Amino acid sequence: MKKTVSFSKNSVNVFFHILTNCNLKCLHCYINPEQHGENILPLTTIEAWMDVFARKSDKANIIFLGGEPTLHKDLWLAVKKAKELGYNSITIDTNGYLFNNILSKVNPNDVDYFSFSLDGATRQTNDMLRGKGSYDQCIAGIREAVSGGFAASLIYTVSKANIHELDMMVPLLKDLGIDRFFIQVLGIRGKSAKSSDKGLRVSISDWLGVIPDAAEKIAGLGITVTYPKVFLRPEELFECAGLVAENYFIFPNGRVYRCPLCEDFPLHSMEFKNNNLIYTDRINESDLFELNIPEGCVMNKIIQPANLSFNSNGSPDYKIACCLLKEEISR
Ligand code: SF4
Ligand code: SF4
Repeated sequence: MKKTVSFSKNSVNVFFHILTNCNLKCLHCYINPEQHGENILPLTTIEAWMDVFARKSDKANIIFLGGEPTLHKDLWLAVKKAKELGYNSITIDTNGYLFNNILSKVNPNDVDYFSFSLDGATRQTNDMLRGKGSYDQCIAGIREAVSGGFAASLIYTVSKANIHELDMMVPLLKDLGIDRFFIQVLGIRGKSAKSSDKGLRVSISDWLGVIPDAAEKIAGLGITVTYPKVFLRPEELFECAGLVAENYFIFPNGRVYRCPLCEDFPLHSMEFKNNNLIYTDRINESDLFELNIPEGCVMNKIIQPANLSFNSNGSPDYKIACCLLKEEISR
């Protein structure tokens, strides 16, 4: 069954970057230390900030991110605290290195998903994008997690370098015991926003020609597949998640964004000061959310106008959906 996943308006999603450092140097890394600092949050701060968001909803979901979050020696204690605070689901995004023996310090009742990043079905392609040895380490990490009873999902960031290997992921996903597969569009943040990496982004026609079919095939294995909607037909409703959903992207320097496309800019609408969450002065990302333009997402028009096209009357051929709007196929 294919469906567009509407924004979860009654839940709170907390994307918590507890540090920004990482052992890898992926070509398309979206982390921007100039904007988000290089500090490692102490456990007491992580706990205090998690508490703020847990109070917003009894259905809050938390995703621990980095950099590589398992480099944080107290990640396991943060997970236990998130559980104690009543978070509805807890996910750890990882490149597969699983530092600090994280699998032995948490258990499958604590962590809903370990979400691994792999960007190729072959060692050659993945390691060209993510670094030598990262393919073998990620595969080993997935096997170790699955054999320990943890649920594992996989994130595949599509680029010109790996779009041709999506079909080859089908047997690999089955073999690894993955039950959720996330296809991501190559971001326009961090390193990918820089001109030298623009050549990796796939064209609109390649995206539309490959992704939906590949997603169907993978879903045929019984794996739930999620991918960004990207384009909206004229009859489809455009909504900005910044206005209708509660997503919070937290960075270790205290910035809190509502929109991931704003993360390369000092446009955050909130920040932590002395462990209190406060609104920042305008102008900030909130002012952008309120702009209603025929092209759909305002941030897309600002940072990647090349993916828009217009008819002879000057009207856009389609709207660009919010980057947080997803299609989901499950069997
Ligand atoms: S694993 Fe993630 S944080 Fe680390 S370099 Fe790659 S994209 Fe960046
Ligand atoms: S990606 Fe665009 S539509 Fe989505 S929250 Fe950001 S500005 Fe709004």
